[in-house]
Amino acid sequence: MSDTLNGNRGRRVRFARKLAILGVIAILSFALAPSPIAQNQPYDLVLRNGRVVDGTGSSWYRGDVAVRGDTIARIAPSITDSAARVIDLAGQVIAPGFIDIHTHARRGIFEVPTADNYVRQGVTTLMEGPDGSSPVPLKPFLARLEALPKSVNIGSFIGQGSVRSAVIGEVNRRPTAEEFDKMRVLVEQGMKDGAFGLSSGLFYVPGTFTPTEEVIELARVAGRFGGIYISHMRDEASGVIESVKETIAIGEQGGLPTQVTHHKIIGQGNWGKSVDTLRLIDEARARGVDATIDQYPYTASSTSIQAALLPAWAQEGGRAETLKRLKDPSTRARIKAESIKIIRNERGGGDPKNVVIARCEWNPSLAGKTLADVTRLRGMEPTVENAAEAALWIVENGGCGGIFHSINEADLERILKHPATMIGSDGEIPVFGKDHPHPRSYGTFARVLAVYVRERKTITLEEAVRKMSSFPAARLGLLDRGLLRPGMKADIAVFDPAYVRDAATFEQPHQYAEGFSLVIVNGQVVFERDKMTAARPGRVLYKRK
Ligand SMILES: [Zn+2]
Repeated sequence: MSDTLNGNRGRRVRFARKLAILGVIAILSFALAPSPIAQNQPYDLVLRNGRVVDGTGSSWYRGDVAVRGDTIARIAPSITDSAARVIDLAGQVIAPGFIDIHTHARRGIFEVPTADNYVRQGVTTLMEGPDGSSPVPLKPFLARLEALPKSVNIGSFIGQGSVRSAVIGEVNRRPTAEEFDKMRVLVEQGMKDGAFGLSSGLFYVPGTFTPTEEVIELARVAGRFGGIYISHMRDEASGVIESVKETIAIGEQGGLPTQVTHHKIIGQGNWGKSVDTLRLIDEARARGVDATIDQYPYTASSTSIQAALLPAWAQEGGRAETLKRLKDPSTRARIKAESIKIIRNERGGGDPKNVVIARCEWNPSLAGKTLADVTRLRGMEPTVENAAEAALWIVENGGCGGIFHSINEADLERILKHPATMIGSDGEIPVFGKDHPHPRSYGTFARVLAVYVRERKTITLEEAVRKMSSFPAARLGLLDRGLLRPGMKADIAVFDPAYVRDAATFEQPHQYAEGFSLVIVNGQVVFERDKMTAARPGRVLYKRK
């Protein structure tokens, strides 16, 4: 089983005793009465008159859904048995709660444990630790989450970059045999602590310093424990095809399922390459490699200005080393020359106005401004060359988060249509109104349903829901979630398919999605009539082999 409530040993023993007593009563009752007792018990909740989109991808059907405790007890055309509460859905869609396989939820979960931005778009489970970045070790982090009353379920990957950083630092060299063993042990420990697999961020420092064979070795450890490999690839721009090949090779040689996370094609000169990347995935799958994809539905990405606009070698060794390099005039000139290329051809989107500052701790007033604005504020014309200078100035002053408009709609839709693509936000839990985050945190799931199902008809409603529920559940081995079926955990999202929409924009990101009327986590209502409730039924989820 994938999901266990830790730290409740005493309660579990008591529960087991109760179960035993109930069992005796049940047997006695069965002997006396002709019908099994379970059918006569009232339900805690019956949701009537729904359009059931069950998560499999099958066409919707009309039905009622009954919940008892934290579990879906029954689904039928009409359920008239008594229930503590009955809600008429009036023909709205009832779907499994959405599972977001790529989030940075540790940015915010402890400040906003209700995760309103996610719940209000039907998300009931968040996966942390993507992009090679997770707490190491995982256990204290998961224990903190256990102790936190929260609205949503949460699980984590173990991050390859964080493991490497813990053992040898942010340097560009191979590990010694002893260091390699330490990394293996840390990955193994992460898996034993309940991680769902190994994530990597080979684009970032220190992931970028990791040779493929080293990743394969660590992936093999995660695979032994039933985990998957999920990767923010080495290069999503000019090297994207090589990077997809590498991601497939790591799964194939590491002997575990592999996933290209937030698949996108960055930089105008590379647009259209999704034809080839998807063909590589198809070919891999045809020869038996379990390779899949996730994606968010926006044509802009988000990461730090430093990671996006500086070459990796300039960031080796951490911030102090970066600053030292920027102080040396000839090294600074080399860094600037590469930044110019990156702004022109890659994440910069060819024009400094395509880069937007998302958050900036040392100067919050920069949030929302473009790199062209910042260049002008520095007294320069916003040419690509001057924008690179402004980017170096930002890095020298402490760095900022950025949003990068450099993705093509045609690639986005092609990737979305692919049957091996699921939805993941790559978002975080913002404090409402604070900073200028990427709208994906507020809008990903609603946007797929509004723009790509209703408006553009890129995919069907049922296919979209599958990509948000049963598909990620199967990927993670969450066998008791992701479908509307009796016996499954009652994680449920109800929405109006004619009205659902993402309201968050790049200009005004702090806007909740609309059109969801009811969200249930482990059988308890966490969101209803436009309000979060007081319930905190979220659980920490653990991968169990
Ligand atoms: Zn990423």
